[in-house]
Amino acid sequence: MTTKTLPFDREKLEEIASVWPTPFYIYDRSAIEANARAFAEAFAWNPGYREYFAVKATPNPEIISLFKPFGFGTDCSSLPELELSAAASFAGDRIMFTSNDTPAAEFRRAWELGAVVNLDDISHWSFLLDTLGAGTSFSGHTMCCRYNPGSRAVGNDIIGKPLEAKFGMTENQLFECYAAMKRAGVESFGLHAMVASNELDPGAIAATAEMLFTLAGELYAQTGVRVRFVNIGGGVGIPYRPGDKAIDVRDLSDRIRAAYARRIEGGPLAPLALYMECGRCMTGPYGWLVSRVRHVKRTYRNYIGLDASMSNLMRPGMYGAYHHIEMLRRAAGSPAVDVFDVTGSLCENNDKFAVQRELPVPEPGDFAVVCDAGAHGHAMGFQYNGKLRSAELMLEPDGSVREIRRAETLGDYFATLPAEWRSRLGVPGEGKAG
Ligand SMILES: *Cc1c(COP(=O)(O)O)cnc(C)c1O
Repeated sequence: MTTKTLPFDREKLEEIASVWPTPFYIYDRSAIEANARAFAEAFAWNPGYREYFAVKATPNPEIISLFKPFGFGTDCSSLPELELSAAASFAGDRIMFTSNDTPAAEFRRAWELGAVVNLDDISHWSFLLDTLGAGTSFSGHTMCCRYNPGSRAVGNDIIGKPLEAKFGMTENQLFECYAAMKRAGVESFGLHAMVASNELDPGAIAATAEMLFTLAGELYAQTGVRVRFVNIGGGVGIPYRPGDKAIDVRDLSDRIRAAYARRIEGGPLAPLALYMECGRCMTGPYGWLVSRVRHVKRTYRNYIGLDASMSNLMRPGMYGAYHHIEMLRRAAGSPAVDVFDVTGSLCENNDKFAVQRELPVPEPGDFAVVCDAGAHGHAMGFQYNGKLRSAELMLEPDGSVREIRRAETLGDYFATLPAEWRSRLGVPGEGKAG
């Protein structure tokens, strides 16, 4: 059995859980900051390099704000994500609006904030013009298009094959869209693609960068549009399994730098900024879902039932994703080991954090810490089966712990019902969460 290193021990968790009962999420601030610094330093060779943190990964303003001192922006795809960014004082081209199937109101708000608007489809250009109204000035605004390479690139499991993916435009549409934007007076452009998710091969990510460098050159040759950045999307993977090899940021940077030297340096597009919009690798390894063992059950299989469920972290149930689990036991000595399914309490058989996993045999009350839950974890939470979303906590560099989102209450769960039902349900604070 392999282990992962945790920034807390069992005693510390007991202390935290005496204030915030399990389940809860906890994020390690120092580790998030050290990683952000490593990215900023590794890519400093590129003129204009910027990482746009993908807000959807961990949409908490306290988390988003951690990235500001490192020069990051935010990547948004919805109105609430735009509002969170604005509230955290991101504005103008520090916001990338990469949406799809976009409603008019969201384009309008993104425009108001001066965000870089990244179009998912050629039809969205006329939709945007209709939304913004006649006489809109493009001065000071940057427009971007999302490219879907179709059969030219192979996707991976989570994002799917580009030919089957709903995102982005074909090459012909892309060129046509830039030409139309140029005719309308747009002066500042970028080019975007995202073809991987949770990719652990640095060569594949560098290949996306090279593909976009090349495409930017073709775009310039054919339309005269000179993009000032390429955005290679997010999708940098993290080692969920103990045997997985983490991406070495320096190595990734060196590979992209070599592609830049081949395709851009000394050419008409230089200097060209490199943008990324990573979520997972920015917070994923630095957040944990902490729960306690509620029951140990032995039938045709052995089960460990937790006080967290798939509604707290749905990646394993939805994608069969692996999350490492550390058992922090109260009993001393080396434990017996057995094979378990680790479950939550939803009335759904796919409510499992692990299937047929070898683990130390726990006692009820022991901590089960689900690792690498810092991205696309709490954010994907839901309330099915009357489950409430948990608190989010920040482990500060001095070891103190701060609540950055409270746990939901029954009042939150009932808050959207008509007043009559809220009062029958006896929810305190009519009309308010509470
Ligand atoms: C989800 C998403 C990201 C972030 O992806 P990670 O895998 O978390 O790095 C970035 N850009 C877009 C457009 C996305 O949809």
